[in-house]
Amino acid sequence: MQDVHKNRSSVFVIGLSFIFLLFLYRIGTLQLVDDKYEKRAINNALNKITLYPARSVIYDRFGKIIAKNAASYDLFIFPKEEKLENRLFIQQILQIDSNQYNKLLTEAWINSKKRQKNNAYNRSAIFYSNLSQQQYTALRENLYRLSGFYIEPRTDRAYEIFGGAHAFGYLGEASELLLKEDPYYQPGDLVGITGIERYYEEFMRGAKGIKTVWQDRTYKQRGEVQDEAFNYPAKSGPDFYATIDIELQKFAEELFNGKRGSVVAIEPSTGEVLAFLNKPDYNPNDLVGQDRAKSFRKMLIDPKKPLYNRAVKGVYPPGSTVKTVLALIGLQEGIIHPGSTKGCGGGYRMGNIVVGCHPHGGPLDVVGSIRISCNSYYCGLFREIIDHPKYGSTHNGYRVLEKYWRSFGLGDPTGIDLLGESSGNVPTVERLAKRHGKKWRSSMVISLGIGQGEILLTPLQLANVAAILANRGYYIPPHLLKKVNGLKNNGLKQEYRTKKIIPIDAKHFETVIEGMSQVMKPGGTANGTGINGIEICGKTGTAQNPHGKDHSLFIAFAPRNNPKIAIGVIVENGGFGATYAAPIANLMIEKYLMRDTSSSKQFMIDRLKTTVLEPQ
Ligand SMILES: [Zn+2]
Repeated sequence: MQDVHKNRSSVFVIGLSFIFLLFLYRIGTLQLVDDKYEKRAINNALNKITLYPARSVIYDRFGKIIAKNAASYDLFIFPKEEKLENRLFIQQILQIDSNQYNKLLTEAWINSKKRQKNNAYNRSAIFYSNLSQQQYTALRENLYRLSGFYIEPRTDRAYEIFGGAHAFGYLGEASELLLKEDPYYQPGDLVGITGIERYYEEFMRGAKGIKTVWQDRTYKQRGEVQDEAFNYPAKSGPDFYATIDIELQKFAEELFNGKRGSVVAIEPSTGEVLAFLNKPDYNPNDLVGQDRAKSFRKMLIDPKKPLYNRAVKGVYPPGSTVKTVLALIGLQEGIIHPGSTKGCGGGYRMGNIVVGCHPHGGPLDVVGSIRISCNSYYCGLFREIIDHPKYGSTHNGYRVLEKYWRSFGLGDPTGIDLLGESSGNVPTVERLAKRHGKKWRSSMVISLGIGQGEILLTPLQLANVAAILANRGYYIPPHLLKKVNGLKNNGLKQEYRTKKIIPIDAKHFETVIEGMSQVMKPGGTANGTGINGIEICGKTGTAQNPHGKDHSLFIAFAPRNNPKIAIGVIVENGGFGATYAAPIANLMIEKYLMRDTSSSKQFMIDRLKTTVLEPQ
């Protein structure tokens, strides 16, 4: 009996074990292969929650943090679970009226449907992004009774140092178009809109992660799904080192106080942009967090155009700064030699047309013509080049000249890592024909010889010309990315590692550079603005402006041998090049090269900081 009982219970145990094993197996298959189960589970109790990565921290070239990440919180909603009785409370916390509430709810419905389509099992959608600290606290404390709502953390920008706003750019919510084009983005996501934030968006943004959670019927989270296939962590954007020297940048901004215009400084040997300034500009901290949209709308209609990136979009006549380029072309083509002299007599005359020049002794050779910036010399040289018999015709001669100009990066985008760069303007023979008639002659386009008329440059192109002069005949396209550790070639594209060669011999550069060095010396057009102990080579420009006072321009590089910095400056309505643009460039050069020493021209700094040309 005992045995029988024992046997029976054994059978019972074995049977039970079998059932249990079957049960385990069934659970296994349920989780692995039972499609029906999975669908049911998904529809009822799983929610995929996006884990937002931190964006790349942006550093300057010396490792100073410029932009980092700050915690921010978004309010999400399951629209179906939303309850009428909670509306007033939420409206009060978010400080919105019932119309705005309804609008947000409608949007959430739409987005929730879209997400379901993409994700199969996520019915939540963003309701309100960038909660303020108070809103976050008030909501978090009451979430338990706010059916359908939950809060998710993400990050937004926080700026440690303000400066270079147009180089770094700003973030904004993903546009409808982007949401349509790229399934990576969800409504409410922050993306780079301008600057390097936009250009390098794909690695700055990092990669989102996913956390899959079980939920009960009231959408309360009941723990994570413990399966790697359902969960992966967010991946931060890699550290981004920009080429900007933020100390130099801030110094430039101080000197530009009360002025309008642009400065670009470049390390000639690498094409790295050291400073990139537009004035007016904006405080990048105004374009983060809750006030982003409001500030942005205000800036858009601001008549001072703080969002306008004139360094790459603004076009200006380069004036006398490009006499340097014309001299090089004349020398290379053998039309002049360093000792070729020309007289002046107060201006260049062609029939009854006179291009004026300021009083100076003559005649001048190439070096002297740069030092004094003689208009007659360059009107004469311009005609000698394009009218030269060896080219067969003036128009062919002009085509040769145009080709040289383009080799200097004029008339085409430089290729900087920013979107929306202008080409500036270098007119073709055909364009000139439209303006001056098919049979146009050199006398009709004579102002091109002194950087006026149809020739237009961006401040970036102007700085790039300075870099070419510094390099004695080549440039690397200017760029704002210095390095991203861990990426091949530090993340630098091939074109930012490749020299573009100008077809002009180095010896001709030495002639022009001697003239540029004398610009800062007695008798030179920027005498008195130089810096003790640094041989700066520069060239002034004063560009006629049909809308008002002349623009003040200057290009420069230093030191003369083995240059470390090249710079282009435009001060709108600043008058003569030597008045504002030259001292700003020279002080920036001093700052960059002599960093920790106090300035030898403090009075010049004080004057610039306090001279207001444009009320701001
Ligand atoms: Zn002259």
